[in-house]
Order: sequence, then structure tokens, then C-alpha cells
Amino acid sequence: MRDGVVIVGGGPAGSVTALRLAQRGIGVTVVERTRFPRRKVCGEYLNVGTTKLLERIGLWDRVAAVGVPLEGIRLVTPWCDPVALAFREPALALERLTFDALLLEAAMRAGARVVYARAEDVLFRFGRASGVVVRDGAGERHQLWGRYVVGADGAGSLVARRLRLAKRARGPRRFALGGHYRGCGTLHRYVEMYVGREGYLALNPLDEQRVNVMLIVRESWLQTCASTVDDGMEKAAAALSRGHRVLQQAARDGPRACAGPLSFRVRGCVGAGALLVGDAAGFLDPFTGQGVYLAVSGAIAAADTLAGALAATENEPLLFARYDRERNAEFSLRARLGRLAGALTSVPFLTRRAAAKLERVPRCADGLVAALSGSSPPAGAFAPAQFVRLLL
Ligand SMILES: Cc1cc2nc3c(=O)[nH]c(=O)nc-3n(C[C@H](O)[C@H](O)[C@H](O)COP(=O)(O)OP(=O)(O)OC[C@H]3O[C@@H](n4cnc5c(N)ncnc54)[C@H](O)[C@@H]3O)c2cc1C
Repeated sequence: MRDGVVIVGGGPAGSVTALRLAQRGIGVTVVERTRFPRRKVCGEYLNVGTTKLLERIGLWDRVAAVGVPLEGIRLVTPWCDPVALAFREPALALERLTFDALLLEAAMRAGARVVYARAEDVLFRFGRASGVVVRDGAGERHQLWGRYVVGADGAGSLVARRLRLAKRARGPRRFALGGHYRGCGTLHRYVEMYVGREGYLALNPLDEQRVNVMLIVRESWLQTCASTVDDGMEKAAAALSRGHRVLQQAARDGPRACAGPLSFRVRGCVGAGALLVGDAAGFLDPFTGQGVYLAVSGAIAAADTLAGALAATENEPLLFARYDRERNAEFSLRARLGRLAGALTSVPFLTRRAAAKLERVPRCADGLVAALSGSSPPAGAFAPAQFVRLLL
């Protein structure tokens, strides 16, 4: 069967691309290697920007009905007293098991076909990506052809590698460990972030009992302090939270989450006949929780690009170049936003200064919080006046 578009990966990036294409009547097949519902290692925090995008694509009511509204974020660092930052509009905590299944289901209802199989290779015809080779659950190999291929297969993307778009990762290797825990105490609908030199620990309340606990640390640090993964997780959590959150008293509910190294970079997100979207087009440090936002916003843009190319309303190279440019600009801006938040929470002088100012003038960080929570565009966070208000 020849479809318009073959999408590898049924996470938020792949599902939303499929939904938007199917809604336009374009034939689309999603190839997903894991049967849904499936777990995904994630802090499970959906920022305000994501909730707005969900509203735009008509899925907000369904998502809001199963998520927990979040009112703000409490930052705890060793350099000053905890700082509570309230969101202007509610963000959401929602298990990826539920969220991702809901998005894929919406795509299927709109007419997308889902093939549960592992993509093993990209097919090229006249130098253009034109399909994928998949292996199904019975071990059989099949070819799926389409006019376009979308790589929505996450960090480490096969499609990015086959298109020679993947780049060597730089910097220290960092890993995420965590899972769902009971008995962590109440968080009062606030995300709690413990930031230290070794890494950070994030707690996100999934419901009255369960908390998503995610620890991000350097591999080297984990190796020196732990005999087992659980031991390392507990020691690192106790050290970062300075004893406030002791996981020994909490019980893990479900499997341990483990992912890493946390990096994936690409030299561009378009190739002949193909687009990359979501983490496949570059992985952003999860510190500021913008990954799902980038996946959904990128998917909307990718679907617009492909629909334009298929309808030949505009020249394909121009459309692809615009997609590439806009995604790179958005990614760089959000990566800078993450580095800025990192500096403000890990450079003791800056953290103390900002915390003292927030104590006196609680609204002085509104612009930054709005950018970080995704309720306003990230550019606002870099306005010099913002820093003057916060640090002087
Ligand atoms: C530790 C951690 C914490 C995070 N916390 C947050 C957070 O709190 N908030 C936030 O917004 N973001 C967070 N993120 C980022 C977020 O998880 C990602 O940005 C988001 O999942 C990207 O969506 P995606 O659809 O691009 O990729 P994914 O969600 O990774 O989906 C990719 C899909 O492709 C499938 N796939 C992969 N390869 C193949 C193949 N060869 N064949 C077929 N299928 C394939 C996979 O099974 C998967 O279902 C976090 C990330 C990490 C690692």
C-alpha cells in the first residue's frame, strides 16, 4: 500500500503529525515498535504552552479530564531558602501512559493507520526517502512506501541516522533515574525541583498518592556513590534534597525508570523526502520541561509543511527550508532558556540575589516564569529589563 506519509514513532510528535495530516484527508501510517498504552521515561509535566497547543488542536478537554492541574513550582537549592513560583495559568501533571495513548487514539480516530512494528531501515528511491522497512511481532519484514517519511522516533532516531543528520553528542554523559513513588508526602499541586551541582531531582504530583520522581545526574557521579541503581537513586535524592525527600521511606509503584545518556543532536531536521520532528530533531535537557511542547508544536508545523508539499501549494524545498529554519530557531531559543534557568539556579551568587529580590518583590520574575512555563514566548525571558528587575 502506498500512503502519503509514513511516520516512524507514535509518541506525541508522531501522533500529532498523524492527527493533523489525517484530518486533512491525507493517507498516513504510523509505525510504532511498542504496543500502546506504554510507559515513557519522563517527568510527566505538561507546561502551559503544551496545554494551549492541545486546546488549539481540539484535544484539551480530553487531556484536562484525566490530568492534575499544577499551580506552580517550588525551587530548592543549597544556596538559599526555597522559592515558590506560581504559574499564571495551570500546567498539568499526566502520566505518559495515558497521554500518549490518548494522542495516538485521536490520530487513529481521524483516520491514521497504526502498524505495530519496529522500523529497521529507511527506503530510498531516486535519492529520496520513500518508505521504511519494518519487522513485525512475528519477525516478518515488510516494506511501507509513502511520498514522505517522518522521523518521530525520539532521541537516537533511526530515521535521523539513516539520513545522516545525526551528530556526535558533546558534554558529560547524564542519566535519568526514577519512577512513580508512594509515600513522598504531599506537594500541594506544586512541582518540586531540587537543584545541586551534581544534577537535579524533580517531583511531580500525579494524584493524591503518587509522585513522579526523576533524578538527573552525571554518570560519573552515580558510579562513585552507588553499589546498585536504587541505592544510587536514594543517595543522590537525599543529597540533592538535603534530607527533605528521603526515598527510603517511599515505595516505588511500578517499574524503575531509567534513560540515558540524555543527549541527541542533529545537523538539520530535513532531508530529501523526509522531516524530523520532536526529540528525533534534537533532544532538549529536560530541566525546564519543554520537550513535549516542542514535540507538539513541531508536529503541527511538520503536518502543515507536508500538507503544503503534497498539495503542491508551494515549492517543496522552500517549505522544507522554512520548517528547518523555524524548528532550529525554536530549539536554540528554548535551549538558551534552559541554560539561563540553569545559571539562575546553580550559580550561588545569582540564586541568592534572585531569591532575595523575589522575597521582596514576588512579581519581579513573572516574565521569566511565563517564558519557562510556556505561557509566553521564550524571547521575553531575555529582555535586559527582566534581569534588572530580578537581580538588582
Ligand atoms: C528523564 C526525562 C524527563 C523528561 N521530563 C519531561 C517533562 O516533564 N515534560 C516535558 O515536556 N518533557 C519532558 N521530557 C522530554 C519528553 O519526554 C520528550 O521531549 C518527548 O517525549 C518527545 O516526544 P517524541 O514523540 O518526539 O518522542 P518519544 O516520546 O520518545 O516517542 C518516540 C516513539 O517512537 C517509537 N520508536 C522509536 N524508534 C522506533 C523504531 N525504530 N520503530 C518504531 N517505533 C520507534 C518509540 O517506541 C516511541 O513511542 C523528559 C525527557 C526525559 C528523558
